[in-house]
Amino acid sequence: MALRTILTTEHDEEALRKHSRPVTVFNERIHKMLDDMIETLKESGGVGLAAPQVGILRRMVVIEREDGSILELINPEIIATEGEQTGPEGCLSLPGVWGEVTRPMTVTVRAVDRNGEPFEETASGLIGRCFMHECEHLDGILFTDRADHIMTQEELDALDEAAMEEMEAEGEQA
Ligand code: ZN
Repeated sequence: MALRTILTTEHDEEALRKHSRPVTVFNERIHKMLDDMIETLKESGGVGLAAPQVGILRRMVVIEREDGSILELINPEIIATEGEQTGPEGCLSLPGVWGEVTRPMTVTVRAVDRNGEPFEETASGLIGRCFMHECEHLDGILFTDRADHIMTQEELDALDEAAMEEMEAEGEQA
């Protein structure tokens, strides 16, 4: 496995705006790319990574679930959504930028695995948000296109404070 460089809009916006092609052959080369993407995602500390973010114009996404397990989505399609959530969203390709984005609360995706076997997966909350965000990368769409507004430093600081208070409250309960 090898770490890949994550492209950012600052240096490679053009690459991040391209449409990715479906995967049609499920061979060693594709497996190696997926392994590299997983290693790169883990190193980054992010939740999800789409192939075009590392310069591979193929419809592939890797996501780290809340329990630490990895989900690989190849040729993913959003087939159902339910509800709504509004919250802060960021992207490994836009370091330091956060926006308030409204997404469906629950998202069902249809995809194939690394051997071409089809499956469906439903997720809510953060991972549901991630399904939407990563699938859009495959069509050159960035979360800033979807954001109600880009958060200011003041708003980010307030968010940090709220998160800190929440952690302290939880600590008191324990
Ligand atoms: Zn992203």
